Amino acid sequence: MRQPTLFEGSKRLVYDDAVDLTVQSLQAYGPSHDHWAIAWSGGKDSSALLTLVVHLIDVGRITAPKTLTVFYADTRQELPPLAIAAQAIMAQLAARGIRCEVVTAPLDKRFLVYILGRGVPPPNNNTLRWCTRQIKIDPMAGALEARLDTLDGNILMLTGVRQGESAIRDNRIAMSCGKDGAECGQGWYQEVLPNAKGIRGRIATLAPLLHWRVCNVWDWLRIYAPIKDYGGWSTAAIADAYGGDEAEEKNARTGCAGCPLASKDLALDTIVAMPDWSYLAPLKGLKPLYRELRLPTNRLRKAGIETLKDGSIAANPQRMGPLTFDARLMGLDRVLSIQSDCNNGARQQNRPTIDLLNREEEARIRELIAAETWPQGWDGDEPTADTPMASIFADGSMQPLLV
Ligand code: SF4
Repeated sequence: MRQPTLFEGSKRLVYDDAVDLTVQSLQAYGPSHDHWAIAWSGGKDSSALLTLVVHLIDVGRITAPKTLTVFYADTRQELPPLAIAAQAIMAQLAARGIRCEVVTAPLDKRFLVYILGRGVPPPNNNTLRWCTRQIKIDPMAGALEARLDTLDGNILMLTGVRQGESAIRDNRIAMSCGKDGAECGQGWYQEVLPNAKGIRGRIATLAPLLHWRVCNVWDWLRIYAPIKDYGGWSTAAIADAYGGDEAEEKNARTGCAGCPLASKDLALDTIVAMPDWSYLAPLKGLKPLYRELRLPTNRLRKAGIETLKDGSIAANPQRMGPLTFDARLMGLDRVLSIQSDCNNGARQQNRPTIDLLNREEEARIRELIAAETWPQGWDGDEPTADTPMASIFADGSMQPLLV
């Protein structure tokens, strides 16, 4: 019988070519590092990378390193079907004796605690994407530093960054977060992580799937990886979470539920359109909530020109700042309602419940609000950002209120 080829079609790299290039890159760079690590978020690209690398080691196509550590980046904002699939894969890794560490940001730095407790507005495309660094890169750097301290030598960090076949031609790696079909964080692990404090100079990164197209990823997750000869991995659930057979066309970007930076909730839309996951539809309320929290009525504003700690003048007078306590409590209430609506639906349908905000995180948010916590540089006595005031420009000139 003819063995199916993974990536059929004249425009695609065929299975052998795609995997051969992956094997070549691992053979070229792998042996000079005794210790490997994989930055895994449970999304499609890094899950494909993880399962393929373990398979290639299992069948002897690449030489196993002395140690392999998998770092599962748990942001607490993962799309539930992916988080559930990750649990199944972690059990399979454990059964193979592969070390897997779950990496989570410290309580006060977690996405919802930082926003609703500390009052920092949800990220948007102008806020330098603080979330990616804070809930993905910094915790990963910390976990790597701790691991490096127990090992002799450096670590080769494998990431799921992809650029498609064009990468072979132009040899360019971009931050993948904003790219179609990319997985948030992988580009940062590739580009930013090696320079992180504590691990600078101690890790090298490699993107063995750089040349893979999104269709290659879906085919691996859905068709090959679940087959026993390829490892028998529980990866089909990942492809299913993105629309099963139609996943390829959807080309969904992977990241947090309700990511405020994605233009559309494509992945979440696909998930809640499936009968099994339709009870997660209340999660669609997250993105509008994050947008609403950024409105002037929910935030403070500097009244005039601001003198910074070093005596210099801030470049953006009258900048908008943190969330008011009322806004934070409103946000907390909405997130808890979304969670309980999902979980009521889950219980009715005998489906898995979600854990968006646990008791410890909720208590910490309430504690931070009760302690009247403001982000650095804010006292809480600034006016709300919808208060009419004379305009002050960066050069110090002022335009009074027109009455
Ligand atoms: S998916 Fe969105 S919210 Fe989550 S870390 Fe990435 S950019 Fe931030």
